Amino acid sequence: MGRLVMKFGGTSVANIDRIRNVALHVKREVDAGHQVAVVVSAMSGKTNELVAWCRDASAMHDAREYDAVVASGEQVTSGLLAIALQAIGIQARSWQGWQIPIKTSDVHASARILEIDGSEIIKRFDDRKEVAVIAGFQGINAETGRITTLGRGGSDTSAVAIAAALKADRCDIYTDVDGVYTTDPRVVPKAKRLDKVSFEEMLELASQGAKVLQVRSVELGMVHNMPIFVRSSFDKPEDIDPHGTPPGTLICSEEEIMESHVVTGIAFSKDEAQISVRRIEDKPGVAASIFGPLAAANINVDMIVQSVSEDGATTDLTFTVPASDFARAKQTITSAQATIGYARFDSETDVAKVSVIGSGMRSHAGVAAQAFEALAARKINIRAITTSEIKFSVLIDAAYTELAVRTLHTLYGLDQV
Ligand code: ADP
Ligand code: ASP
Ligand code: MG
Repeated sequence: MGRLVMKFGGTSVANIDRIRNVALHVKREVDAGHQVAVVVSAMSGKTNELVAWCRDASAMHDAREYDAVVASGEQVTSGLLAIALQAIGIQARSWQGWQIPIKTSDVHASARILEIDGSEIIKRFDDRKEVAVIAGFQGINAETGRITTLGRGGSDTSAVAIAAALKADRCDIYTDVDGVYTTDPRVVPKAKRLDKVSFEEMLELASQGAKVLQVRSVELGMVHNMPIFVRSSFDKPEDIDPHGTPPGTLICSEEEIMESHVVTGIAFSKDEAQISVRRIEDKPGVAASIFGPLAAANINVDMIVQSVSEDGATTDLTFTVPASDFARAKQTITSAQATIGYARFDSETDVAKVSVIGSGMRSHAGVAAQAFEALAARKINIRAITTSEIKFSVLIDAAYTELAVRTLHTLYGLDQV
């Protein structure tokens, strides 16, 4: 007997038929003798609708009330799945974040999980053979008693955190693809499924734009060494052998991966904005005068390039911020113009970041150089570059994103992994 957490994303619970299908997946594991906690997302499109309603009610709304509204989508699906399970003879009950409780920080709309009390759920596994159906994405702040949410895609994080709290053997993430691919299969049809990916690589893939797992869920998986298995909820429950190995991707520690490729995958993000602050006097303290106020405004700066200005006497600083923070970043920089002492502010919002990830880069030189050549051959201009131990990223015009991703996918041999 094992203990499992099964998480189902929005498309997997998009309507009552799909919820019935999810119930059969859960039954399959219960029948195989496992103790099961299920984590559900809202029906696909629901959270977007709820977010839009908040904006419609008031552009500048109270984040605590936003959380009260957007957490409701998961309340519905948790109740519906419990009903569907009971209807096929499986003992089940729904749990909202506050009922468990899943305690979080009070940073509404992007709260962090602080503590989960899994004792009652475990007791019910033992006493009643009861399946726990838990609303993902939500928690409660203990001090204020208010409902919180974990940021978009947060049900993945709920699932991994619950798996750790329940000391589960594995956390299965059921979604609309049958695993983690070398890049987004919706963009590159030639993308191949990976059997295993290390936590480190998955962390980079997720933080550079592969939305298949929320970044924080991978961090928690790494901290608790909780194996995460990404698989499809569209496989027919009756076709799956509970003792066999289904198609999917295991996210696990690097030691468990025998063969490593130089490049594992490619991620991309169009949610970037580039800012150039031009003709700044080149003296100590200038970078601090720009990035200090941005940090104070809680704006994450990513790629940074410093270069000599056209006049040859001053300097230009170019950097990227998330597109959603662009307006605030612009305001922060322009209002500090006198202190920074620059001549011109330029920006470009139609840009994309393409990132190449692979732990093999630690031991192979020249991986990035190959990419620069291949992109140049396609006449794709690189606006900025960053590198780290197992990743490099290039910033390009957004219009070339798909071409760049496909070019690099072929270059690194990922078309035939
Ligand atoms: P869910 O609603 O189940 O949480 P998401 O839409 O959040 O599902 O995540 C699954 C989607 O992630 C896939 O449909 C796919 O388009 C996208 N995706 C992006 N990059 C990758 C990748 N490298 N491998 C697999 N899926 C990816
Ligand atoms: N329903 C939430 C969202 O759409 C959480 C999730 O699906 O993971 O962001
Ligand atoms: Mg998701």
